[in-house]
Amino acid sequence: MRKKIIAGNWKMNVKPSETAALVKAIAEATRQYPDVEVVCCTPAIDVPAAVAAAAGTHVGVGTENCHWKESGAYTGEISTGMIVDSGAKYVIVGHSERRQYFGETDETVNLRARAAIAAGLTAIVCIGETLEEREAGRLNEVIERQMNVGLKDIAAADCAKLVIAYEPVWAIGTGKTATPDQAQEVHALIRATLARLVGAETAETVRIQYGGSMKPGNAAELLAKKDIDGGLIGGAALKADSFAGIIEAAQAAK
Ligand code: PEP
Repeated sequence: MRKKIIAGNWKMNVKPSETAALVKAIAEATRQYPDVEVVCCTPAIDVPAAVAAAAGTHVGVGTENCHWKESGAYTGEISTGMIVDSGAKYVIVGHSERRQYFGETDETVNLRARAAIAAGLTAIVCIGETLEEREAGRLNEVIERQMNVGLKDIAAADCAKLVIAYEPVWAIGTGKTATPDQAQEVHALIRATLARLVGAETAETVRIQYGGSMKPGNAAELLAKKDIDGGLIGGAALKADSFAGIIEAAQAAK
């Protein structure tokens, strides 16, 4: 039985001075849904405030990126050791915006994911196709490549710290959502690919989130699908009531 996991990706949207209020409002609005793992992935500069506000609640905190080196001359980057030291427990790796705007590749996704898992963080590894790739019939090839390279050398024993987020790039921040059947089809492909990489038994334990314009109004039908184990939420994670609406749907779908 996989515990549903709903994670917010705040992106570059919330200031440190606004963080405690949002985390506390989310904790308050979702405390009646104990069967759902609730996470706020925040800009690194918000993490201390988020961790302090989440203390004693069921809300976990994560970052939106990490570097694979422990320390050194990597201006602007944060290491997994820094993330652990800050009290955060999760990190998003390979978000499509990192791939699109910051040169992230499947190879660097792999380095970051392995470093995160080795540090004891839960890595939320994002994969997904662009509209051009889908329309060119390359969906399966893209997902398999992103997994073969991005998850290379991640062993079955590491998978307790692995979450995969399937985020069709064309659905992120666009208001276009994959239909539940479209999403389930790709989630099934991801689980089958995972089975090849780490074994069928372990593949059954790994949570696969859907991300891309998920909101309270469409969450229930997505989360009802067999292989959809949660959501990675952008826009709807910035307001406690909309984020809580998705978490309520996840609790009902458990
Ligand atoms: C995301 O950025 O991971 C995301 C899914 O964004 P949105 O929910 O706004 O589409």
